[in-house]
Amino acid sequence: MERTREILRRVLDHYRRGWRPEGSDPFRVLIRTILSQNTSYRNERRAFERLEREVGVDPWSLAEADVEEIASAIRPAGMFRERAARIKEAAQLVLEKYAGDLRGVLEKGFEEAREELMTLPGVGRKTADILLLFSAKKGVIPIDRHINRIAHRTGIVEGNAGYDEVRRRLEEAADEDQYLDIHLALIQFGREVCRARNPRCSECFLRDLCPTFQERQEKNAANEIGAAAGI
Ligand code: SF4
Repeated sequence: MERTREILRRVLDHYRRGWRPEGSDPFRVLIRTILSQNTSYRNERRAFERLEREVGVDPWSLAEADVEEIASAIRPAGMFRERAARIKEAAQLVLEKYAGDLRGVLEKGFEEAREELMTLPGVGRKTADILLLFSAKKGVIPIDRHINRIAHRTGIVEGNAGYDEVRRRLEEAADEDQYLDIHLALIQFGREVCRARNPRCSECFLRDLCPTFQERQEKNAANEIGAAAGI
């Protein structure tokens, strides 16, 4: 736990003034999160802006629009046909079930709200948690692919730890009012330093705490000895 605290402290120190979410309207956060799945921040942003301009990001406009129109607007995000169908379906459901306003769901208790959000198309645990954190200030740290990778590499969790275990380990090691900053700072750290491919370990401020870095050092040293011995 102390090591996890120290990791989070350093990441927060480094990225405290990072990107902040623009607005907390739950429907817009939902659409933004659907667009962000498996795409870069830049492409997600472009797709969102085009959707805003060409269709409008509200349940009424999206429920009425043709799927093709939505798909064309969000093309920069990739997988645009599947995402467009999910976005339209989500908009229709939000209109039918909640009269276009998700705030009532977000006011429920954490577990109940999470389960209900996950009945919407394209909404899994991560998206539900993002909505609960960003739009309802609930005490949860959503785990995306960057955060999951960092937690495993730095030994915050081990082996096959799944989504909820990673989330709980991080939450236990931080104060609730830091959750949003931690979520954003870890994503930025994962994009810039602890990247999926070619992590920049030599420049990383977590080297002394990171078992993956230590394993790599030992492996390199063994390879060098092997090469010198002609093995
Ligand atoms: S030392 Fe390397 S693997 Fe470890 S956290 Fe830093 S970038 Fe990631």
